[in-house]
Formats: sequence, structure tokens, C-alpha cells
Amino acid sequence: MKEKTNDKSKDKSKKRSKLNKKEQAKGIRGYTLLLIFIMCIVMALGCYAMLTSYSATIEEESAAIAQQYVESTSGNLKSSVDVYLGMARNLGETMKEGEYEDAEDFTIQLHRISKRESFGDIAFLRYYEEGVEYNVSDDSFNPELEAPVVTKMIEQGELGCAGVVADRQFSLAVVAYCVPIDDFEYADALIVFYPVSSVVSYAESLTDANYSNSRYTVICTPGGEVVRVLFKNSDYEIAEHANVFDALRPEFNSKSIVDDLQADFDVGASDRYMETVNGMTTIVSTAGVLDHGVSIFSIVGYYSSADIYPSGYFVIRAILGAMFVLFAMVFLVAIYSLIQHIRHKKLYEAAADTNSILGCNNKAKFEKVSTDILAKNPGTTFAVVVVDINHYEYFTDQLGFDTMLQSLRHLELIFSRTMQMSETYGYLDNGRFALLLHFRETSTLEERINMAVSLATQRGNSVSGNFALSLFGGIYTTDRAITDKVSKMIDLAVEAEKATKYQYDFGNFRYYNEMHHASAVQNDYIEVNMYKALENHDFKVFYQPKYNIQERRPDGCEALVRWYNPERDEYMQPGVFMPLFEANGFIMELDHYVFEQVCLYVEDAVMNGLPLFPISVNASRITATDRDFVKFYTETKQKHNIADGFFTIEFTESFAYEDYDMLREIVTELHRSGFKCSIDDFGSGFSSYNILKELPMDEIKLDQFFIKQGFSPERDVKVLTSIINLARELHMKVTQEGVEHSDQVDQLRQLGCQVVQGYYYSKPLSLTDYIGFLSNDKKI
Ligand code: C2E
Ligand code: CA
Ligand code: CA
Repeated sequence: MKEKTNDKSKDKSKKRSKLNKKEQAKGIRGYTLLLIFIMCIVMALGCYAMLTSYSATIEEESAAIAQQYVESTSGNLKSSVDVYLGMARNLGETMKEGEYEDAEDFTIQLHRISKRESFGDIAFLRYYEEGVEYNVSDDSFNPELEAPVVTKMIEQGELGCAGVVADRQFSLAVVAYCVPIDDFEYADALIVFYPVSSVVSYAESLTDANYSNSRYTVICTPGGEVVRVLFKNSDYEIAEHANVFDALRPEFNSKSIVDDLQADFDVGASDRYMETVNGMTTIVSTAGVLDHGVSIFSIVGYYSSADIYPSGYFVIRAILGAMFVLFAMVFLVAIYSLIQHIRHKKLYEAAADTNSILGCNNKAKFEKVSTDILAKNPGTTFAVVVVDINHYEYFTDQLGFDTMLQSLRHLELIFSRTMQMSETYGYLDNGRFALLLHFRETSTLEERINMAVSLATQRGNSVSGNFALSLFGGIYTTDRAITDKVSKMIDLAVEAEKATKYQYDFGNFRYYNEMHHASAVQNDYIEVNMYKALENHDFKVFYQPKYNIQERRPDGCEALVRWYNPERDEYMQPGVFMPLFEANGFIMELDHYVFEQVCLYVEDAVMNGLPLFPISVNASRITATDRDFVKFYTETKQKHNIADGFFTIEFTESFAYEDYDMLREIVTELHRSGFKCSIDDFGSGFSSYNILKELPMDEIKLDQFFIKQGFSPERDVKVLTSIINLARELHMKVTQEGVEHSDQVDQLRQLGCQVVQGYYYSKPLSLTDYIGFLSNDKKI
């Protein structure tokens, strides 16, 4: 049988370890997921850092390419400007070598020669002689616009390009060249104007730069006027005569870029700017065309970096795409595991709420559900009923857990069927269930409980062939002022169940009541304070006088202990604390203490010559079975010089019944040491004439039971008479306890009982009162 139980427990621990492994696996999976997640994030950050630096490189690269484009364009344009400058110079040289009749002939010749194709398609032509400007071509160009440029050129007196002169009215723009002619009779300098379109077209034709990857590429005057649109993406608005700064300004968040650009134009500088616009890196590149340090043109390329360096961006996009896919996957996996995790958690919580074997509420869940029900039904009275299987542990031991489980399942089924609306039940532990039932009358509640119990314990529902299931329990009802937590209600119902000192209220069930509880609380007080009380001498010895009714004289007394509570100035009776002291063993210390106190009193009385009578002291079973029992009592007696035969030690009858051999030995030894022995409470328990036969006692104390109520009817008297006679024949003194009335005394006297003890003669008295009592010489 034992082995079987071991197997069972092995099985259980196997199950448990399986469960643990599952739990562990779940934990490990959780950690792995977290690790993967963190790794993904680290990887993503790494990728992001790499991409950022890579895109910065790509941006730099694209800006450099953009710059290269505009600079090559500006280089070409500069060549083109130089080509026209060359043609203008040639015209000047040709004119200087010619011979002219007079100034008028010079003008006519100049006009004619300038039309030659080799000098380009001159738009206007002027010459200067002694500070006067002469118009050669009959043009309608605005002289006011032209004047500042021309004046500046003449002042410089060098061969060069003065820049662009634009006349909006005629939508004409020209590039002005100054060709000084030294030592010439008819002119100091030629001023040649070539149409911008021609100069620029030439540049355009020379340029192989890839404009098409720009948003637009334009050639502008230093003032920002667009004189040529080299390329324009259809998405952008830019046309000739438009102002490039005005066009760019709305494109940028940072206006300073345009201002900086404008400054570049003034000096014909090369520069590039980058800014992120709508998430795209945009580049503005410029390159100026200078002649003799004067800014003539500026090329502006407006680019998106992705267009310039598509291969770089392809890589970025590819990586981004891959990352996105990866992320989407990780995200989905994470979401999936999260959902799984939540589902598991819910399942786990549900499992934690349920008793895993029986599938019903466990204690925690029962408390939770009950709390809800109680809160929702404040006007209803409820009962928390705990139901226990009698000898559950013994059964489990004997029959194994699996067999017991069948019974638990059976009970669970019955309780589940007992439930009505707003009621619940759960399995607490160790064969104990709790039910929350509502009721109006306790009688109906009791009927329901009885019904469930009888269903559960019906024949055929036995645990196994030989063992019948029996149930018992406690009930806490909510029809009281205290508002306890459900867990407390369960505790109190269990307390009622365990209050074995009290009768069952119905079946094997007891209601919780405050009185039981108070005694439980009192028990706590007792156990906490007993040692302190002993130290403080709060235990007081009382003396109850005994009276010899045959000889009409005092016979002695019995020492009885009380516990004094100085705070309340009241005594606690031994009936309250003795059972506890017997249970926790403190009784021995107390018995020793009482005996010492008694000896002190006797010693003192002897010394002072006070009247003194023999004294009986009680020895509990625990005190008497101690190895040094006789030794202690003997030594104490001798220490106080008290005569042999003065003390009687009382043993309870139930103790005597337990072990005659031992008691006989003790009694013999006590006799040897000068103590008398008495058998206490005779007739209260398992009385047996054997006691009288086996033990050489000096006194027999008859329990109050013999003289209670029915005392006098013939049969009672006969029983008592025979006991008294028997005891006397065995030379034992017969003492009747609990004598309260004079007629009891009369009858006992008649029956031959020698000594009485009881309220009729005297209550137990404090030492002072007892000493006083002795001097009174009371007779009954
Ligand atoms: P017990 O040894 O049978 O003591 C007699 C009890 O009967 C005492 O109760 C006493 O007060 C009570 N009594 C006396 N006359 C009457 C009467 O006329 N009517 C009724 N109804 N009762 C009467 P007490 O003092 O409460 O002691 C109860 C028990 O506690 C004692 O029963 C004894 O077993 C135990 N006890 C008391 N003091 C000691 C002690 O120092 N050591 C040990 N081991 N047990 C003690
Ligand atoms: Ca006694
Ligand atoms: Ca007694």
C-alpha cells in the first residue's frame, strides 16, 4: 500500500515537472522572441546608420555631378562668349586695315563689312570717336538700357565682353562687346552687340552635358533673368524672361539658399546648395561666366539628387525595400506572437482560476466570484459553507489520490447541481469545498445542505468498498453587522467547523457564532500571555475547604488555580485555560508553580503557628508522566520542611484509565515519599471498578454526577451506596465533590460518605479568605 502511495506521489511530481517544463519552455520562447526582436531593432538601427551615411555620400556625389554639369556648361558658354569676342576683334582689325575717304565712307564701309558672315550675326553696331557714340546699324534698341553698359566698357578701354543688355519691350537680349582700336583715324572703339540667343545657342550646341536629369537648367543674366532654358521638366514652370530667383524661392523652405545664390550671380561664382524638399534631396548648382572679372552669365541647374544618381538611389531603395519586407515580416511575427501570448495568458489565467484537476473554481476564483455576487446582491443573506471530507488525509493515504479524486469529482458534480442563480462554489484544498448559497430561512438552507450531503454520501457513493464518505463543515452567514472579506468568511466558517467543543447545529454542521470566535480569540490571548503571567505571579492559588461530615470537622482543602487579570481585575477560571495548557504542555510549569506556592503558604503557617489542614493538589497527566515528577514534588516538599502525609495528589480518573501500570508505579513511589494519592472525578469518564481494584489510592473523589438531579431515586442511591461501601472496604476515603445543598449532605452522611467538598460548605477561597475561613470554625 505504501509503495502504491509512493508511485502516486511520483506520478504527481512527474505531472508537476512536466507542467514546469511547459512553463519553462513558454518562458524560454518569450525570451527568444524578445531577443530576436531586440536583434531586429539593433540591425535596423545599424542599417539605418549605414543608409544615412551612404545616402549622405550619394548626395555629396550627386551634388558633385550636378556641379560638374553646370560647370561644363559654363565652360562651354565661356568658349562661346570668347568665340564672339574673337569675331568682334576681327571686325575691329579688319576695319583698321581698310582705307576710307572720310568718316562717312568709314561708316558706310563698317556697316557693309559688318554684315559679313565671318563676323557673326551682329545685332547692333556702334563706334566711338572722341567721346561721341555713332550708331552704325539702324536699330531701335533702347539706348537708355544700353548706355550704362557701354559707358562702363569705354571707360575700361579694353577688349572684352560687357554682359547682357536686355530689352523686355522687344524681348531682345544682347551681349555687348567692346573692341578698342588704337591709332585709328576714324574711331577709338567699336561696340558690337550679338543676340544672346546666338551666343547661347552656340554654347548649347557645344554642350554635351546631360541636362535631362535636371528639373531645369537655365542660363541667366547676373540679375537672374532667364535668357535661355536649356532644359525643363514638364512639371516645372520656367520660361525665358522669368526670374530664376522668383522661380526657386517657393521651392525651398530655407530662403537663404536663394539669397546666397543671388550673391553668387553678382560675382559669377560657382556654388551648390542642397536641401531636402518633400523628403527628396534637391540640389541647386550654379556656375558663372566671367569676362575680365565681370559676371556675364550664370548657369543654374535645379536637380533632384535621385535623378542625378539613380544607381545610388536604386541601392538605397533596394535596401529600404528589403528592410521594409523584413520589418513587415518581423512585425507580423511579433503581432502573431503577441496574440498567441495574450491567448496563452488568458488560458493560463483561466487555468490559474480553476482547480486544474476538478475543473471548478479554485479558492482565489471562488473568493473573486463570491465578492462580486455579494456586492451585486446587498439585500440578500448568504451563507459561506465549507464542506470537508471526514478523514480525507487518511483516505488519501490508504486508497491513493486517484481513488480520492473520484470522490472529489463526485462531490464537485453534486455541488455544481446544487447551485442556483447568483451562487457559486469552489474547491479549496485537501478535500475541502466552499459554497456560497443564498437563503431566507436557515431551515431551507439546512435542507439544501442536508440534501447535498445525503446525495454525496448515499450508499453506493462510498469512497471504495470499505470506506464510506462522510462530510462535515462550518457555515458563516452574512446576516450580521460585520462586513468581512470572503476569505475571512471562509476562515470563520472553518473556525466553526473546527469548534469541536460545541455541538453540531444540524447534521455535521456548525454555524459560526461570535461566542466560538471569542473563545478562539481568547485562546490566542492565553498562549501569548501565559509565560508573562507566570513571571508576574498572575496565577493565584485558591483553596476550597473540605468537610468531614461524619466527624463534623474540617478535613482539609484542595488547591485550585486561577489566572488573575490585573487590567480587568478579574479571574479567569481554569476551565478556560487548562485545556490549552494541557495541549501545549505549559500545564507542568503551572502545576509546579502551584505546588511551590502551596508549600510557601504551609511553611509560613507552620512558622507562625496558624491553624493548618492537609492540602490536595492537582497533577495533570503531563505533569505526572514527567520523569522527574516524584523527584520534584518530594524535593520541594523537603525544601519547605513539610511533614509526610500532609499533601494529597489528585490524579484524574481518565488518566488512570489510560495506563494503570505506570500510575501504580507513581503512586507507590509517592507513598514512599510521604504523599497521599487521590483519584479525582471518579464516575465522570470511563469509570471502572478496575481502578479501585488495581490502584492503591488513599482517596476517591466522586464526581458531582453522582449527586446531580436524579439523586435520591432508589437506583441512584444503590449505585452510590455500593461505591461508597466498596471504597471503604478498600480503606479509601470517600469524598463527594460538588455538594451544593444541605439535603445532599444529609443523605451522604447517611450513606457513609466521609468528606464533602462543594459550594454548600465553601467556594474556593483566596489565601487570605481561606485563612479567615479556618478561624471561623464553620459546621454543617
Ligand atoms: P477539579 O479538580 O475537579 O476541581 C473541582 C472543581 O469543582 C473546581 O473547579 C471547583 O471550583 C468546582 N467546584 C467546587 N465546588 C463546586 C460546587 O458546589 N458546584 C460546582 N458546580 N462546582 C464546584 P475549578 O476551580 O474551575 O477547576 C476546574 C478544574 O481545573 C479542576 O477540577 C482541575 O481539574 C483543574 N485544575 C484546577 N487547578 C488546577 C491545578 O493547579 N493543576 C491542575 N493540573 N489542574 C487544576
Ligand atoms: Ca481535583
Ligand atoms: Ca474533581
